Amino acid sequence: MIGIDRIEAVLLDVPTIRPHVLAMATMRAQVVCLVRIYCADGVIGLGEATTIGGLGYGPESPEGIKLAIDTYFAPIIAACDATRPAAAMARLARHIVGNHFAKCAVETALLDAQGQRLGVPVSELLGGRLRDRLPVLWTLASGETARDIEEAERMIAVRRHNVFKLKIGKRALEDDVAHVAAIKQALGQRASVRVDVNMAWDEPTAARGIAMLADAGCDLVEQPISRTNRAGMARLSASSRIPVMADEALTGPASAYDYAVDAAAHVFAVKIEQSGGLLAARQVQAIADAAGVALYGGTMLEAGIGTIASAHVFATFPALAFGTELFGPLLLTEEILSEPLDYADFSLGVPDGPGLGIALDEDRVAFLRRDAVHATISIPAA
Ligand SMILES: [Mg+2]
Repeated sequence: MIGIDRIEAVLLDVPTIRPHVLAMATMRAQVVCLVRIYCADGVIGLGEATTIGGLGYGPESPEGIKLAIDTYFAPIIAACDATRPAAAMARLARHIVGNHFAKCAVETALLDAQGQRLGVPVSELLGGRLRDRLPVLWTLASGETARDIEEAERMIAVRRHNVFKLKIGKRALEDDVAHVAAIKQALGQRASVRVDVNMAWDEPTAARGIAMLADAGCDLVEQPISRTNRAGMARLSASSRIPVMADEALTGPASAYDYAVDAAAHVFAVKIEQSGGLLAARQVQAIADAAGVALYGGTMLEAGIGTIASAHVFATFPALAFGTELFGPLLLTEEILSEPLDYADFSLGVPDGPGLGIALDEDRVAFLRRDAVHATISIPAA
């Protein structure tokens, strides 16, 4: 038994390199809830929770996650054995309903600490990786066609991304489809172009929109309608000529099971935070594999910690037909890791050091803390 001395959750405000325009929010900064678990043997585990656009995407916010961890997770975690992450998570599950994003951050920190302790990567704690690199797409979300084409051309030229996801659903259907068609026409066979509607359409609009997008050369449509309309997703999947992917609707293994039974998507976007943790994300993967549903590794636009936690999970998936979107750190102006992640050749390298295999840049973290005392305060002379 190794005790847990304390758990700490701090908020970091990290600006984005450009406005990130989604159907439900425009992001100009990302708020990272950084979690550290200090174990009695001196090991410190790292975890992270983020959301998209505050409360714009789902029921948890970074501020709410910090509050939940400080108030409700901390006393439970303090009584847990750091060498038994699964037992700690089972105890949290007994006492805390929902709060998937917060649970994911805590599980990440527990597994990071345990991996460091045992000298093995988190991917090996999860059963073992099947790949060392993951394909990573880029989201074109400036909302401007010419700017998006220029951005895509630059990404292809430097061999960073050749798969692009466009965020649509905010404008009229015809305008959105024209935007997608123009980008696909400019990039041609050099790139795959996909869309994420983020639930912005009703079912008839989606039926019409998906057909138009198929004609425009789009390869995949993500969550075209509400997360609550599973029957509609099943009808759209049955009639679509291109794959339909579920994202917002997948909130863990039970939802994945319902979607699989109803054939309500061809592809699942697996996200560790939405699933409720790393092990829950693997359960979503197992359900998809059993049902013949293809997989895609999703992101909540996490910074380096959550991105690498996701990478360790996705590296264990037997098949990952639609690649991943683990580009979160590349959308941020500031690097919070001591060494930037390995993005090259249209892919991300999965670290092979113990635990997550990453370390924080503590100076950057201190600077980005929401509660940081910056140089605006004058220091009295001694
Ligand atoms: Mg999505």
